[in-house]
Amino acid sequence: AVPLVVAINTTMAANNGMLIRDRIAMEEARNLDTIVFDKTGTLTKGEQGVVDIETTTGWDEDAVLSLMAAVESDSEHMIAEAIREDARERKLDVPDAHGFEALKGRGVRATVEMDAAALPGAEASGGQDGETVYVGGPNLLRHLDVEPDDSLVAFSDEAGERGQGVVYLIRDGEAIGAVALADVIREESREAIDALHAMDVKVAMLTGDSEDVARAVSEELGIDEYFAEVLPDDKDKKIIELQEQGNLVAMVGDGVNDAPALTRSDVGIAIGSGTDVAVESADVVLVENDPRDVVKLVRLSRKSYRKMQ
Ligand code: ADP
Ligand code: MG
Repeated sequence: AVPLVVAINTTMAANNGMLIRDRIAMEEARNLDTIVFDKTGTLTKGEQGVVDIETTTGWDEDAVLSLMAAVESDSEHMIAEAIREDARERKLDVPDAHGFEALKGRGVRATVEMDAAALPGAEASGGQDGETVYVGGPNLLRHLDVEPDDSLVAFSDEAGERGQGVVYLIRDGEAIGAVALADVIREESREAIDALHAMDVKVAMLTGDSEDVARAVSEELGIDEYFAEVLPDDKDKKIIELQEQGNLVAMVGDGVNDAPALTRSDVGIAIGSGTDVAVESADVVLVENDPRDVVKLVRLSRKSYRKMQ
């Protein structure tokens, strides 16, 4: 009966976007008690996004964001892309701008055609030639000798505690708003972790990123245990530690850095657009970049096992 079960298993797996490279590991997945996720690119999208906005008196969020997007129209910086993307998502009218200049390591400057109608909360100004507006980080504030007001200082402190970067909008010698940027958490991650908890599986996270970022992401997702600032060569050591505590451990990751941990774990799961090295090191490959497929995998293993009995 075993070959039949394996056949069902493999077909069902393929239909669920899973490629099984090691059938024994797939059978073992039913007994997993700990699943370790790589953070960047697995639980998060691995790209910067705007996660918070603060404005000063007289300005609303959309006005600040559309002005920022205008200044950033010409920049290829990851921060610029995140700001433009958020403006697009909010369907904002971004005013015309010209005279773009990158201020290396600090931010960007441009001349924006200010328009009261397109900028709720902002008074009209500038006229024909527009007005010079800056977007940049703390370095730019220092460079321009601009002191942010108390609300922006508090905003920046809180963002810093979460490990997020902040960039400011500066107009007429004044910081009038700011955005916080962070690697965006996948919406599917929370659902996957809740489902794993409901199945009595402990969830851990492994990352080379800072303690602040790791703690914030863990709290946001309800992760049981995290390991931050882990060097690429030490990722597999964390898996061994968990195994020595008596756990049956799966690792979920996508990067070259994850390969030793994928090999070392009891069930190595390569996810999404994983690098070739990650795929080669994995027992199961999840084709989509969706952490909920890890839940499907454990369910499928449990279901197949019951059929065998
Ligand atoms: P990094 O690659 O570490 O971000 P950069 O030299 O590219 O270093 O930028 C340093 C800082 O300058 C950024 O963290 C940000 O605060 C600010 N900065 C640079 N370019 C931009 C930009 N286009 N928009 C906003 N802020 C920027
Ligand atoms: Mg750079």
